[in-house]
Amino acid sequence: MYDIDKIRSDFPILSRQVNGKPLVYLDNGASAQKPKVVIDAVTRGYAEEYANVHRGLHYLSNLATEKYEAVRGTIARFLGAEDENEIVLNSGTTEGINTVAYGWAMPRLQAGDEIILSVMEHHANIVPWHFLRERQGVVLKWVDVDATGALDPQAVLDAITPRTRLIAVTQLSNVLGTRVDVKAICAGARAQGVPVLVDGSQGAVHAPVNVQDIGCDFYAITGHKLYGPSGSGAIYMRKERMAEMHPFLGGGDMIREVHKDVVTYADPPMKFEAGTPGIVQTIGLGVALEYLMDLGMQNVAAHEDRLRDYARSRLDGLNWLQVQGTTQDKAAIFSFTIDGAAHAHDISTILDKKGVAVRAGHHCAGPLMDHLGVTATCRASFGLYNTEAEVDTLVDALELAHELFA
Ligand code: PLP
Repeated sequence: MYDIDKIRSDFPILSRQVNGKPLVYLDNGASAQKPKVVIDAVTRGYAEEYANVHRGLHYLSNLATEKYEAVRGTIARFLGAEDENEIVLNSGTTEGINTVAYGWAMPRLQAGDEIILSVMEHHANIVPWHFLRERQGVVLKWVDVDATGALDPQAVLDAITPRTRLIAVTQLSNVLGTRVDVKAICAGARAQGVPVLVDGSQGAVHAPVNVQDIGCDFYAITGHKLYGPSGSGAIYMRKERMAEMHPFLGGGDMIREVHKDVVTYADPPMKFEAGTPGIVQTIGLGVALEYLMDLGMQNVAAHEDRLRDYARSRLDGLNWLQVQGTTQDKAAIFSFTIDGAAHAHDISTILDKKGVAVRAGHHCAGPLMDHLGVTATCRASFGLYNTEAEVDTLVDALELAHELFA
């Protein structure tokens, strides 16, 4: 049974007030709150178990290394990877995608080669590819979503040409909540020899993931959206792709030997992990993923789907509210504007007065904003601890904003 009261009590911040009202935290798409087990792990990590990893021969360094390295296996289990050595630990999705852009794509792609992107991508899955466009003439090919915000996998596959070298696509839109059938995209792309990078920043938060079942080549996650610390994350890389990769960041830890005239590298995945990592953050991410696996991602998904249905029915009743992305197959993420109302920032300020935290702006999705013909939206993004009563509080606050502004 999904015991929502117990789950809420696991997150200390949810019992605080904001502007004199109980906090209704609906900004999970930007970053999720942390359960006490994660906060305790971070505190313990610094208070009792801290030292640098991999290089010490003393007790604390060995302890920190053991705990840090164990997270690789936890992430592999969470993502359904075959081997924990396919997991590169990092600071989050932005670093993960840049590692692929610099380490895999840059050395391989020539002017005129093509990368296919959906119009829904987050800037973290756009700007690194723009670097390749600017620096070496790589062509970015964009696939639109339909009027409901859905992405047809066949439209992505139809964009493949003999020059296509990579498809980089999100599994779940951080703006519209649209789920993408990345498995169908991977199957079609694989048949034509095109690797696929999946941005799992949002997808991994809202449903179970199995990278082997998806069949992707790269799958990026970011710890702070998975109820873990900021500055933690990972990227799954299929073994064959990892073998093709050049290191991106150079420095300590990723080398075997360094001399004046020669350098040799550590074996993957260490080859792609330069410098002192986010030790305690990564240990905290491991605890967060164990927490999620204990709850069961299937149960989290079912809870959030119920919330989505309830929120959709309540928001549909507001005929002055424009919800972007009406596809049925979406997560509990709602972006909206109010007819004739002030800027999204003004709406979010009213909601904040009622204790309701939402995000307003372009959500790091410029091409999608252009496609939708808006400059900004408000976004309410639900997480595993939200409730139907919080949907009601959101709707009450929106009604107030409508009265004030429209
Ligand atoms: N991709 C998606 C879909 C996101 O929602 C985000 C964060 O908002 C990112 C990538 C970037 O994540 P990070 O800033 O943690 O690297």
